[in-house]
Amino acid sequence: VTTDRYAERRLRTLEAAEAAGLAGILVSPGPDLAYLTAYTPPPLERLTLLVLSAEADPTLVVPTLERPLAESATGAPDLTVREWRDGRDDPYAIVAGLLGPGRYAVADRTWASHLLALERAAVDRVFVAAGEAVPLLRAVKDADEIERLRAVANAADAAFADVIELRFAGRAETEIAAELDRLLREHGHQRVDFTIVGSGPNGASGHHEPGERRIQPGDAVVMDFGGMRDDYCSDITRTVFVGEPSDEEREVYAIVRAAQQAAFEAVRPGAAAQDVDRAARAVITEAGYGERFVHRTGHGIGLEVHEPPYIVEGNETPLEAGMTFSDEPGIYLQGRFGVRIEDQVAVTAQGAERLNEASRELTVVA
Ligand code: ZN
Ligand code: ZN
Ligand code: ZN
Repeated sequence: VTTDRYAERRLRTLEAAEAAGLAGILVSPGPDLAYLTAYTPPPLERLTLLVLSAEADPTLVVPTLERPLAESATGAPDLTVREWRDGRDDPYAIVAGLLGPGRYAVADRTWASHLLALERAAVDRVFVAAGEAVPLLRAVKDADEIERLRAVANAADAAFADVIELRFAGRAETEIAAELDRLLREHGHQRVDFTIVGSGPNGASGHHEPGERRIQPGDAVVMDFGGMRDDYCSDITRTVFVGEPSDEEREVYAIVRAAQQAAFEAVRPGAAAQDVDRAARAVITEAGYGERFVHRTGHGIGLEVHEPPYIVEGNETPLEAGMTFSDEPGIYLQGRFGVRIEDQVAVTAQGAERLNEASRELTVVA
């Protein structure tokens, strides 16, 4: 990713902000700052803030001791850096001095303490959440981002292919979770963010924390796992069966798989995000399990594992080529078992492609 690309992203961001009636956007450490500058300091109590406004050159306000780090960020050699020193300068007054009149979007992950201090320093400005005002800033991925998402998705696929060779019966959920953690790293993840393993009745709880429950023959096991490689996130779910599944489990699995496929086939440029949710939900509702599909069909993925666009009823955002999000319907039968199947997909010029390639066939493990 070249320096030019970061400058272009900053320009596009400012244009989007202006189109949304904003005077600019304020970006604290986090995925938006990484996207716009390649600078990734930890969020701390000392203020670091990128100020993009029509009034001034793009300016990065940083604590003096972090100035060398900020100036070495690969995406930002051309940025103006304004330092502030402990005990001498008021960083919020410095930011206020860079702002003209009007409304400014503030990155969603900005600490409340920073925003409240900024509101006191700039009483006549209005601040709004960037996630509401300009939600799609990072939603359309370029070719390089899609390749990174595919690479990390395929690394998660490889972890799945390995884990189903292991013995499940008699082992604790936490042991399978630890195996997934190891396998994700083995296949190139630099960070593992979650390894959900929900066996039997625990599979009916969507974000179940793996516990000491021993996996039994006859269990359905929902595994939802992912992490990060080269800054981009993976997130995949597969449900496997320990020994031969019952007729009911087979039926529920087939319905979820058909719903996941229907959602995939609904993805194309110009379709609304909610159309994809409706396509999955129609299949599950017609099969009589509509009340048991208790979550949205998907979420965008990129530098964050959950980001816009959200694939949910009420979201009329038109899909565009380059958007990437999950397709993950599920059916949850409380006290008994759950089934979810999740792939990441990318919108293409004509339709969609899956970034995950792991098998969706019904899989029986030992
Ligand atoms: Zn989730
Ligand atoms: Zn997931
Ligand atoms: Zn997901």
